[in-house]
Amino acid sequence: LSSQAAQSFRAKDLEVQVQKAAHVQLPEELPFGKVFTDHMLLADHTAEHGWGKPRIVPFGPLQLHPAAQVLHYGSCCFEGMKAYLGQDGRGRLFRPDMNFARLRRSAKRIMLADFDTEELQECVKALLRLDRAWLPDRPGHSMYIRPFMFSTDGALGVSPSKATTLSVILSPVGPYFKSGVAAVRLFLDTSNVRAWPGGVGQFKIGGNYAPTVTPQAAAKQRHDCSQVVYALPQGPDPADALISECGAMNMMFVFKRFKAAGAAAQQGSPELEVVTPPLDGTILPGVTRDSIIQLLKQRPDVLVSERPLTVRELLSAHASGLLLEVFGCGTACVVQPVSCVVTEDGTELALPPAGAAAAGGGPDASVSVAEWARQRLSDIQYGRVQHPWSVPF
Ligand code: PMP
Repeated sequence: LSSQAAQSFRAKDLEVQVQKAAHVQLPEELPFGKVFTDHMLLADHTAEHGWGKPRIVPFGPLQLHPAAQVLHYGSCCFEGMKAYLGQDGRGRLFRPDMNFARLRRSAKRIMLADFDTEELQECVKALLRLDRAWLPDRPGHSMYIRPFMFSTDGALGVSPSKATTLSVILSPVGPYFKSGVAAVRLFLDTSNVRAWPGGVGQFKIGGNYAPTVTPQAAAKQRHDCSQVVYALPQGPDPADALISECGAMNMMFVFKRFKAAGAAAQQGSPELEVVTPPLDGTILPGVTRDSIIQLLKQRPDVLVSERPLTVRELLSAHASGLLLEVFGCGTACVVQPVSCVVTEDGTELALPPAGAAAAGGGPDASVSVAEWARQRLSDIQYGRVQHPWSVPF
């Protein structure tokens, strides 16, 4: 992939074909990822000619060669990001540079075409402005943005792609849960492995996602769990397994550090430890994960640790009452509190209800860490607090 090829992707070349029959009527219900806007972004790359002009076209089906590599070898990658409408009437993207940089890394890993992330961001802003009427003006709503790339190379045989399509579609979405933030049951899976050292867990490529459907369905059926957290075995004893992440969320675990909480806080020693597994190549570097880590580092009562966490440590902390909260984080849900962790042998680790989990001693201790993070993030996302992470379009 030559940088010259990447440079042939230019926002100034953007061509716009406006949907004639456009008529925006946002449905009452906006279930996640089911409603799409009037337009989409498309750009095609060939090894021979580089990028063609990026185009905004009416939303509609794509035509593919039946031998297209994406249909056989999963040669595709994608992103998930959101735009939010603020009370001031402005639309804002949340840390889009992080998503486009991650898309570029994913594309490189499977040898899809390279591109300039800033040029793509300009094209996405243009698409958002065109379909602005679809940006929901309702509390807790947003526009989910799905950039994706795939190999259209119409030749069988696993090989570097000579033809890539890049597209972006938009889907207005409501809050992840209808009735506020509902805690879920989480299955701790020590049999199925999502990603492994030397593998591709850190990339958002299609092949990481389709195989998670079976473990998810099994967890739902056997344990009534709507989410699965994977743990990477380190030997025959499942207690040694290292906790990793969910199929589409990073995980955070809140531990109480000291029994004599009040005294410790006064001495300036953090009372809470928020642990999340380190970015060792097996974990997707989540934008929400990074944002929460940065926000939590400002709290004197919290020690943020990106460190390995074994199933044994989790079980033992729960047994001694030191495990206060477990929550997932990602673009779709922002923050997802967990009410109960269920292990393979059916053991249920119940977590304190959200209100009771607020065990820190500082000024932020009146709510759980999960709720604190959710509020901070949404203040920034909806522009209630000015912040460089929010990028107007
Ligand atoms: N882990 C995985 C495997 C994911 O697919 C996602 C969703 N992109 C996340 C974590 C959360 O990442 P982000 O906060 O960037 O949405």
